[in-house]
Amino acid sequence: MTDYEKIGFRCGLEIHNRLNTKTKLFCNCKPRFSEVKPIEIIKRKLRAVAGEMGQVDVAALYEYLRDRNFFYQCFSEENCLKETDEEPPNPVNKEALEVALQVALLLKAEIPDEIHIMRKTVIDGSNTCGFQRTAVVGLNGILETSLGKVRITNICLEEESSGIVKDEGNEITYRLDRLGIPLIEIGTAPDIKNPEHAKEVAEKLGMIIRSTGKSQRGIGVTRQDINVSISKGARVEIKGVQELDLIPQIIENEIKRQQELIEKEEKPKEETRVAKEDGTTEFTRPLPGGERMYPETDLETIVVTKDFLSKIKVPETWEEKAKRFSKILPKEMIEQVLRSEYLDLFEKFSKEFDPVLVANTFTSIIKDLRRRGFETEILTEEQFDELFPSVNKKLISKEAIPNILEIACRDKISIKEAIEKSGLRALDEEQLRKIIKKIFEKYPDLVKEKRVSALIGEVMKIARGKIDGKTVSKILNEEISK
Ligand SMILES: [Zn+2]
Repeated sequence: MTDYEKIGFRCGLEIHNRLNTKTKLFCNCKPRFSEVKPIEIIKRKLRAVAGEMGQVDVAALYEYLRDRNFFYQCFSEENCLKETDEEPPNPVNKEALEVALQVALLLKAEIPDEIHIMRKTVIDGSNTCGFQRTAVVGLNGILETSLGKVRITNICLEEESSGIVKDEGNEITYRLDRLGIPLIEIGTAPDIKNPEHAKEVAEKLGMIIRSTGKSQRGIGVTRQDINVSISKGARVEIKGVQELDLIPQIIENEIKRQQELIEKEEKPKEETRVAKEDGTTEFTRPLPGGERMYPETDLETIVVTKDFLSKIKVPETWEEKAKRFSKILPKEMIEQVLRSEYLDLFEKFSKEFDPVLVANTFTSIIKDLRRRGFETEILTEEQFDELFPSVNKKLISKEAIPNILEIACRDKISIKEAIEKSGLRALDEEQLRKIIKKIFEKYPDLVKEKRVSALIGEVMKIARGKIDGKTVSKILNEEISK
């Protein structure tokens, strides 16, 4: 086993998580991915400009020298003139600001008296204006972990960048729907002890953001950047890790890469690398310096008054939630629900429907569908609004849920349509009695010998997924004693 202290392992994380607020951070557009085609495409070029201290950032200059053309897809409900940088931003979205402050409070961070919106130079084209708006909302927080305290250096509220559609070397196409979605960024000090610990820290930070109930869901919602270095190595930032499970492997690979360079008596360089799906990384650009920040002059400073802060509700902590859930869920399910990206939907639906059924749907069933390659992102809140009442109204049995969700994901249809398509519309009692009578006629010997479980087995071959076993057993016992 590697002695991480001995190799001078230093590691910190930066996590980014998109928020599910009503509007974007600086305009009134919908903070979501468009499901329809772009209404137009615009072409731009970007240039590097000097930062506040009069210096051009090295990473920005590097991008500028690549002289690329950028194409932007614009969408009708997700974009306005703000995203194309033809109109100044609106004042900051209050809802997003509150969520960011909630996160800062949960991490016991110091909240500044004034929040300044800054421009961070980004000229890889992912921002049409050439910078990303970002604001520090918390400093010097603390995260408790199994290996002690990890210091939180900063909590920021930021704009999400545009999503890349295709990269053809000199021509890059981005989609603008993603640009401007509120994003929370949390940075840690290099207090992470080993690769597995990094995963724990990332997971805990993700859970803290989800506990506000305002996190988006799905793949790509949370991205982690990992800073790694070892003695005689260099600080390398690995960007865009989306899978928590990949974190330890990516770090191990980076340690190995630096160790191999050191063995060959080469000095590893400070740089930004991008994570690939197989856990390896590749070089993207030099590490940006401090020259890339300057104040956003289009927006006023936000004064954080005591009064404003006192009105912000601190969400329940993990421990408080676990305690509350222990009254409605079996022990082994509590942690799964707390870790789930569907935590907020569990909270909503478990108030009205069987908590165990709701928890099972949001953890096991969805996880299983995802593992089998189904796109569970299409399962929206509205679909669960149809699903759970269908069980309560006995339109479907709870056993039918996996099948119905599978069909809804596979064919991208509503729950109502999936119920029809599945042929799993629940049987009523009368229909069940008919099936039971038919089975009795087919197996007179079993009836004579009162072999109830064998008979139930035969009935279930027809009724599985359409009615629960308990009801079958009850009715069959009634029928057999007639
Ligand atoms: Zn907009």
